[in-house]
Amino acid sequence: MFLPSPWRQFFPGILALDEQQQVWLDSAATAQKPQVMIAALSQHYQQGVANVHRAQHMPGERATRAFEAARSYIANWLQASEHDTLIFTKGSTEGINLLSQALAHHFQAGDEIFISAYEHHANLLPWQQLALSHDLTLKVLPMEANGHLDVDYAIAQLSPRCRVLALSTLSNVVGHKQSLQRLLDAAHKVGAWTVIDGAQAAVHERPNLQQLQCDFFVCSAHKLYGPDSVGVLFAHERAVAALRHWQFGGEMVRQCDYQQANFLPAPLGFEPGTPSIANVIAFAATLEWLHSLDNEAIAAHEAALHGFVLDGLRERDMQIIGAPNCALVSFNAPQVHHADLALLLGEQGVAVRAGHHCAMPLLQSLGLAGALRVSLAMYNDGDDLHRFFSALDQALEILQ
Ligand code: PMP
Repeated sequence: MFLPSPWRQFFPGILALDEQQQVWLDSAATAQKPQVMIAALSQHYQQGVANVHRAQHMPGERATRAFEAARSYIANWLQASEHDTLIFTKGSTEGINLLSQALAHHFQAGDEIFISAYEHHANLLPWQQLALSHDLTLKVLPMEANGHLDVDYAIAQLSPRCRVLALSTLSNVVGHKQSLQRLLDAAHKVGAWTVIDGAQAAVHERPNLQQLQCDFFVCSAHKLYGPDSVGVLFAHERAVAALRHWQFGGEMVRQCDYQQANFLPAPLGFEPGTPSIANVIAFAATLEWLHSLDNEAIAAHEAALHGFVLDGLRERDMQIIGAPNCALVSFNAPQVHHADLALLLGEQGVAVRAGHHCAMPLLQSLGLAGALRVSLAMYNDGDDLHRFFSALDQALEILQ
């Protein structure tokens, strides 16, 4: 076999899908899970559970210790400084919703929020709705034909009215990784908060948040080979105090009576109710395992698979969106509806994503009703891609 994956064996879900004759090429939607993650979940539940931050008994202390150790490990993996704060959320979507509400009281009518044309709905709709309710202006930085942002153009648009710049560093549609450092620095200079949606980017390159110097950063565990319904919101030490409490309930209160209350600072003040304890612990275990692997070899493997997919699509004259340089590619077949093609691929056991990819305005602006997307992870191998292309050829023969 060409391009074998030495990591495939660690993913029981992939081996099970092999037996079901399913090829998983939809990891950008969610990734399959390594055995280590499943074992961490199971161990947590099997040793006897307890809630965190609220009991003096031994199981409660053990759960709290494991939960807070997981927080430290994840912050460390993100290369955050010890002065920064990590808030657990349900995922990237909740992290950005939190920000849009917890920062809202700072904005005045006419203030500006900048995003890019290729943002996922998760990094569009919270800001759009905030703009509508507070009479703010949502400015959308255009995407170049190759999927880039024109950083010089973007910098020239910034004004002191810009209060937030929120961008993803790897689009789930265009698959174009780009350094945005100069733009982030320029946004800081005009006094804006900078928000990075790292949902896709964090999977393919370990973030270095001390280097990135953004104010806020979000990502989701389930895309990073971890469990569902856990994400992190990183807040830089200079920015965390700007957040106003946004959800209310147990274990976030300092003092409360029937008429009023005051609240704990972040992170606990922003994690009301029982958190996703087992998932947080299993997420840290997943990252610890990821860290133990040869990440350069994984990146090289993914790049080789990506190059093979791009070449094969080009040979078949598929219309590729932008100039993807990382882990995924979205495309259409000329004269073929994406849903028809996806259906025929699905019938042949090839799982790719089709539709608007939660980026409806982007696809509309490109004049597309939708597109197919192939996305890759460390466990994919050459056989997966052979099966994809042979299914694609068969589907095209029927449809074209
Ligand atoms: N941003 C990007 C770029 C994404 O790809 C996704 C998920 N497709 C999200 C945000 C939202 O992530 P989640 O559904 O885990 O909240």
